[in-house]
Amino acid sequence: MTGPDGRAPRSAAPVLVLNAGSSSLKYQLVVPGSGEVVAKGTVERIGEDGSDVADHTAAVRQMTAELTAQGLELASAGVRAVGHRVVHGGPDFSDPVVITDAVVDQIRDLSPLAPLHNPGAVAGIEAARAQLDVPHVAVFDTAFFAGLPPAAATYAIPRELAERYRIRRYGMHGTSHRYVSRAVPGLVGRPLAELNQIVLHLGNGASASAVRGGQAVDTSMGLTPLQGLVMGTRSGDVDPGLHPYLSREAGLTVDEIDTVLNKQSGLKGLSGVNDFRALQELREAGDAGAELAFGVYVHRLKHYLGAYLAVLGRLDVLTFTAGVGENNAAVRTAVLVGLEGLGISLEPARNEAASREARVISPDGSPVTVAVVPTNEELEIARQTLALLALPAP
Ligand code: ADP
Repeated sequence: MTGPDGRAPRSAAPVLVLNAGSSSLKYQLVVPGSGEVVAKGTVERIGEDGSDVADHTAAVRQMTAELTAQGLELASAGVRAVGHRVVHGGPDFSDPVVITDAVVDQIRDLSPLAPLHNPGAVAGIEAARAQLDVPHVAVFDTAFFAGLPPAAATYAIPRELAERYRIRRYGMHGTSHRYVSRAVPGLVGRPLAELNQIVLHLGNGASASAVRGGQAVDTSMGLTPLQGLVMGTRSGDVDPGLHPYLSREAGLTVDEIDTVLNKQSGLKGLSGVNDFRALQELREAGDAGAELAFGVYVHRLKHYLGAYLAVLGRLDVLTFTAGVGENNAAVRTAVLVGLEGLGISLEPARNEAASREARVISPDGSPVTVAVVPTNEELEIARQTLALLALPAP
């Protein structure tokens, strides 16, 4: 497809979307207009013992080589920009931003708020900027929640402490919650501005959001991605008194407690496995730990669903997304069973039909529409990257 000047229109030119972690680099070459994925891949084991990929610079080089091997020379593929996923934008970033040296420094300075995520993103950004001479844009996972009402964003701790250490509920997975909540109006045929929505993003990480008229008004993740729902390896909500208790009684250090709650808890802590498919197999084999894990996972979801119903006052659409939310009918059934009195129910045949499409799974005419919408964070990042660069210069 070409524009009036014979060149590909901007939205037809691919954007390279990078998601750099401490030891992996996920990449996707995506066309923002059509959503077509031109190429994708993951460079793994960055910096690990025995790995050929020494650091993020080598990872970007490997990505370029992998793309070249598929006949995609980045220089000639018409790549307009690189969009980087950054988990934590802290108080500084509520919108995507064109990356400069100063922006890289700011993202690095936010690392204490996301020590498991931001340092990898910074390494990926620096390596990519050095090798790919196009505009680079950072898209923050917290941005969709920057406008949370103060009552939802504020922890009831001393205000001076919160201000000095930038403590508030930031929320994560915002790119997914934004993409999904903006896909729902097309699916249900009603305008975004009219809809009260709850989105349940259930992947390895998991989070819930309440969205009124396109604006997020509450979300389950907090200062860090540890708060809220039960996840693959994260506990989600616990009594904050657990931390001093573990320190005093179990003699654990702060870092050990961090590791327990982030990497050894959640489904894994309760059942030994963090992957939901493995959990289902254990349940089918009659494993008591897996059954308990499933029960705790579902009970926590019901808590947030109830809370957000009350926050919103009226619910129009409830949407499941991400690996578990999109694929696991049993979880959807267990979360929603018994909620008919609240106008929420499932049409079993629709719920159980395997599909990769966005779809409604409640009966026609239900007061609350229940939907499944496959998330697409890379496409959302590509679109936000392009939208930012297409803005007229200030
Ligand atoms: P991430 O947070 O890493 O992006 P995903 O959104 O891919 O994670 O979700 C991973 C989870 O989704 C895993 O627990 C996995 O078992 C589950 N999952 C993925 N695909 C399926 C499927 N087809 N059926 C059931 N569960 C699935």
